[in-house]
Amino acid sequence: MNEKFPGLYIHIPFCLSKCHYCDFYSLTSISAVPDFLDTLFKEMEMYRNRFNPFDPSAASSPALQSRDKGALRVNPEQASGFRSGSRRVDTVYIGGGTPSLLSIQQLESILISVQKNFDLISTPEITVETNPADLDQSSLELMREIGINRINIGVQSFDEKTLNFLGRRHSVKQANSAVEASRKTGFHNIGLDLIYGVPAQDIESWLDTLKQAVAFSPEHISCYQLTLESKTPLGIRYQAGEFSLPGEELQYEFFMKTSEFLEDTGYIHYEVSNFALGTKYTSRHNQKYWDHSPYLGLGPAAHSFQSNRRWWNHHSLDRYLAAINAGNFPIEETEILTMEQLRLEALYLGLRTKKGVSLQDLKNRYDYDLLTEKKEILDKLQEEGFISIQDGHLYPTQTGLAVADSLSLI
Ligand code: SF4
Repeated sequence: MNEKFPGLYIHIPFCLSKCHYCDFYSLTSISAVPDFLDTLFKEMEMYRNRFNPFDPSAASSPALQSRDKGALRVNPEQASGFRSGSRRVDTVYIGGGTPSLLSIQQLESILISVQKNFDLISTPEITVETNPADLDQSSLELMREIGINRINIGVQSFDEKTLNFLGRRHSVKQANSAVEASRKTGFHNIGLDLIYGVPAQDIESWLDTLKQAVAFSPEHISCYQLTLESKTPLGIRYQAGEFSLPGEELQYEFFMKTSEFLEDTGYIHYEVSNFALGTKYTSRHNQKYWDHSPYLGLGPAAHSFQSNRRWWNHHSLDRYLAAINAGNFPIEETEILTMEQLRLEALYLGLRTKKGVSLQDLKNRYDYDLLTEKKEILDKLQEEGFISIQDGHLYPTQTGLAVADSLSLI
């Protein structure tokens, strides 16, 4: 599989209620869903007709560089040179927000628009993020029929108290039946999202959630440590001293126990937070975020990346709708990354993955001879057991993965 195909991310900015820890962009009123979808289809058409985001030469386009901030209007004449480039994509990830609150007809209309405006390879990975409360046998069957082949279920916990604390709108019972129904319906690529490090949760109760998760043999499990942003309801309660979060030592223990347990059960710990039942089930889409492959994000607050350029859409549905309906790309800001920033990112992202960083790739893509330039630090990190260097690769050890964010400071 060629991992370098671009991917498409589509952000559905609606949730029926807001989880207490969440700071993703989403609205709890769904009245604007029809307007949003009409506008999303227009955004896809704009990328088909006026600007090919996957053309490497786009990064140096005067049409893009001249408007680093604010709405981006691409002059059709300047953009015409991009029309010939390929728009082949191999992954579509419908995330949010809660895409599963859309009707099947609405989800299908998104996929039809994708097919109209981009060239999907013959075996694409098409993922949809779902809330267990929205899933039943018939909705899942229809999801399969419209071409969704990977389902990600936001289970978060198999403990009712933890779900309540997090403010999830589903119950443990609904989580169990959603996963069961997904399997029964014939999904062969099921991912479960789980959260650990929740106050009052101890290692035993977390392991209990993991045991219940693996009992379904999901092909993919993501385990995220709870982090609290200051403006979320839980962040506010935390600052008011209502509860504490696990300290560094306990966090480390959660991480290591998780890794140990899931690897013993047959999962590969292939990225800091991600586990798969064999390489076949690693997330093709997420891999693009970790190895600087191009991706296009559509919808409010969605991020895109190509070559040395990252841009993101307005973090406001109103501004997103207004920009597109006025004929402008809904881009809030564009950032051109320097070679130095790209190198650091490549290291930071690569060291979060089991497959590490190819030293030759660092030289070829980023003109960076890491072994020569950081020899002393690398020797020290090797001695201390955080990294290993073999076969031209820099790999994080298990301990290294646990502190991956600090490793990138080399
Ligand atoms: S469902 Fe997801 S996006 Fe929506 S509020 Fe909860 S965590 Fe945030």
